[in-house]
Amino acid sequence: MYFEEIEEKDSKFIARTYSRFRTDLCGGEGALLRSEDGRSYIDFGSGIAVNSFGVNDAEWKDAVIAQVNRIQHASNLYYTRPAAELAEMLCQKTGAEKVFFSNSGAEANECAIKAARKYSYDKYGENRFGIVTLKNSFHGRTMAALSATGQSVMHPACFAPYLQGFTHADPTAEGVRRAVDAGTCAVMLELIQGESGVNVLDRGEVRAIEALCKAKDILLIVDEVQTGNGRTGKLYAYEHYGIEPDIVTTAKGLAGGLPLGATMFFAKCGSVFCAGDHGSTFGGNPIACAGACSILRRLDKELFLEVQGKGEYLRTHLSRIRNVLSVTGMGLMLGIETTKPARELAQKCLDKGLIVLTAKNKLRLLPPLTVKKSEIDTALQILNEVISE
Ligand SMILES: *Cc1c(COP(=O)(O)O)cnc(C)c1O
Repeated sequence: MYFEEIEEKDSKFIARTYSRFRTDLCGGEGALLRSEDGRSYIDFGSGIAVNSFGVNDAEWKDAVIAQVNRIQHASNLYYTRPAAELAEMLCQKTGAEKVFFSNSGAEANECAIKAARKYSYDKYGENRFGIVTLKNSFHGRTMAALSATGQSVMHPACFAPYLQGFTHADPTAEGVRRAVDAGTCAVMLELIQGESGVNVLDRGEVRAIEALCKAKDILLIVDEVQTGNGRTGKLYAYEHYGIEPDIVTTAKGLAGGLPLGATMFFAKCGSVFCAGDHGSTFGGNPIACAGACSILRRLDKELFLEVQGKGEYLRTHLSRIRNVLSVTGMGLMLGIETTKPARELAQKCLDKGLIVLTAKNKLRLLPPLTVKKSEIDTALQILNEVISE
């Protein structure tokens, strides 16, 4: 099938919620992608931080295919080895007590919201269900996650009413202090706001928010759907901040390209859920979990140092490009503010064989964690041509 045929079918039969770039990716190796019409691209998007080790990673494929050859799905009525092993590995690496598996970031956050409300209800009774999130945050597209999202552009009248109980604070300790009241059960943060421009929260402010939460027994939820799983040069971005969240959610890169969400519960709320409190048909799917095990096993100190080094190298060279106003982010999650419209720049990069993402008015880079030095240099060359022109 030619590209034009695919495009026609897609436009005719798929709901029009996306404005796609005009290429159909079909294969590749690591950070090198190929389209059906034979073009090749360097991938600085990883399918939005999903393909952690790029495409066609041998170890990941072996793990996934081996599981396909055993059983593809069992349901949560029964035990499966990949989910149990993945949960153990996540707990051992983070210090979490329990994990709930779902299929996406939004679902991981829904679970966190339910758990926080139940924790508070069990301990303090009714009317302590409020959740404070930050302005410019993004927590997903389902109704609760959308209500949690702190951007008015994401709350058009056509989808109203949104859920009650969410307040959107200025992204400072003072902002959160003003938003918190006797009815607050949790504060939910993205430490690096990905969708709204790779905005890195200040370490001091975050630590002050943590102290405020601890003092009032308000749960601290950290949304690591995008920042998690090695992306920022640590397993989870909260480690950069020296904080101890009560709940951490993750998804995107966790299973290296398969749909999987995880909500991790630390000491305070390890036993908040009982049988029947929450569930998911596909959650903890053995193929997704087998893939995730093969990724998580390799997220070690050595890899984190590599991610940090590559991130620094990119930052240094990006900041020297003409028309670049600022470079933000950590590790291999970077935002580039320029004097030009981001979507146009992304299209020009694509025309020259480089896939990049945008986040509001910025370019956003999320290459596979295993991107090669030579690929970074080619990407820098293309970015330089496109941005400085
Ligand atoms: C992508 C993202 C989500 C939503 O994840 P989905 O898998 O699309 O539901 C939630 N929070 C953050 C921080 C994200 O980046």
